[in-house]
Amino acid sequence: MSLDFDPSSLSIPKGHHIGGRYIDFGGEPIEVRRPSDLQVMGTLEDGGEEAVEAAVQAARQALKASNWSKIAPIERARVLTRFAELVEQRSLDLARLEAANSTRLIAETTVRDAARTAGTIRFFAEYCDKLEGQTTQTQSGILSMVRPEPYGIVAAIVPWNFPMITAAWKFAPALAAGNAILIKTSELTPYTLLLLAEIATEAGLPKGLFNVVNGYGQTTGAALVRHRSIGKISFTGSTATGVAIMTLAASHGTKPVTLELGGKSPQLIFADNEDLDALAAKVAAGFMGNGGQVCTAGSRLIIQRKIADELVEKIEARCRAITPGPTWREASDFPPIINEKQLARIDSLVQKTLAEGATARVGGSRLETRNEGSFYAPTLLEGVTPEMTGYQEEFFGPIASIHRFDEVEEGIAMADHPTYGLAASIFTTDIKKALLAAEQIESGMVWVNQNGRGPEFTFPAGGFKGSGFGKDMGRVGIETYTRQKAVWINYAA
Ligand code: NAD
Repeated sequence: MSLDFDPSSLSIPKGHHIGGRYIDFGGEPIEVRRPSDLQVMGTLEDGGEEAVEAAVQAARQALKASNWSKIAPIERARVLTRFAELVEQRSLDLARLEAANSTRLIAETTVRDAARTAGTIRFFAEYCDKLEGQTTQTQSGILSMVRPEPYGIVAAIVPWNFPMITAAWKFAPALAAGNAILIKTSELTPYTLLLLAEIATEAGLPKGLFNVVNGYGQTTGAALVRHRSIGKISFTGSTATGVAIMTLAASHGTKPVTLELGGKSPQLIFADNEDLDALAAKVAAGFMGNGGQVCTAGSRLIIQRKIADELVEKIEARCRAITPGPTWREASDFPPIINEKQLARIDSLVQKTLAEGATARVGGSRLETRNEGSFYAPTLLEGVTPEMTGYQEEFFGPIASIHRFDEVEEGIAMADHPTYGLAASIFTTDIKKALLAAEQIESGMVWVNQNGRGPEFTFPAGGFKGSGFGKDMGRVGIETYTRQKAVWINYAA
């Protein structure tokens, strides 16, 4: 069956989803457009303080009425498992809505994004009854124990590039740990998260535990961070916004923050690779996937000189062999940039880097297509040096710079970036080089002979240095939604 669909036939959620229902407060309207053809998909409002306050009230009442933090963890698991099942049943609706509203291609949202969202909920449902604290008999007559306790109400602020997944990594563990959660959607891609809130209610999650508010970062996002009843903020987005959120959180109740930020990730490629065609396909996907709008995009290609020219030619051929097109056509293999503003930002970074002395082997400008969305040409830059804009700044588009090295240690050293440390991929058939590089590169995630995490769920995702701190996913992904209380019991007194 073809995955093609008509985006104008979709049913579009309307409003914030607070207390288990859609609601509006008369805030400033926000037009939401489809990136593939720039048509308006619907209109939502900037919720601001009023929506945030309503969501906090709903969360407070829901925690009290449902006793969510205190019921047997297996009861929370039962509801979340039902939620995961319904997400699986509605996966085609979710996949279509995600593809229409974002840059995610239907072929990917169908087989990956919707399934990963359901998988994330299921993974954390199974973790509900596995949170444990240490118990120690420190001396005779005194027992000490650590209780992992939920915060109560937590908040998440998410980006537009993987709207469902980046949100699921936060709401699923937060709920599993016994919290209520408020999430602010990206103003560009609100719809699948709203539908997920609707599905959660249908699954029997007590109304008010999972609230979704719409709005801009400066208004609604900042209102969430400032709110004194919110115990923790989990953020995924750009480094500049992460810094602003951390600063605001520090002066409003010293709330803890988790920051999943940007990257400038290396693909470190050794000359021992034999199948250069297969390698070129992986490397190209590493910086062109989702049009390069991936936090972990491998945007610095660090290639051992012996194979560099041949490999770069093959990667260049892949840059030229794309089929750009609307996200709702199965045949499209290269999506648009999220909007014109973001395309202009990408292009200005590229033009600056070219003016500083780099050259473009391929690309270097917007892609003129018959499609109406904003497409940027896959771009390979040569001669990018560490002081140039294109080395320092995250493009967040389908652009990679090429760097050559001779000695193993030289390549490993080049893989480190002065600011960022989100992910690194290493391509080699030599286990020694792989382990050496994995040990030495300062990065929160390292992949050998693949680009991207996977199999996922079980391992923590997140960066070092300017790429943030705290983790999503894995065991730590749920522990981060608890705080540790130490209790001492003197039974000899
Ligand atoms: P962004 O920082 O512009 O926005 C992210 C979210 O923050 C949006 O919901 C936005 O409305 C909100 N926001 C903006 N200003 C705010 C403020 N002052 N206070 C509160 N909230 C505010 O990022 P984006 O353009 O949506 O996403 C792209 C960025 O996200 C890239 O830098 C990318 O690398 C990063 N990202 C990181 C990861 C990761 O796991 N590390 C994953 C995906 C994306």
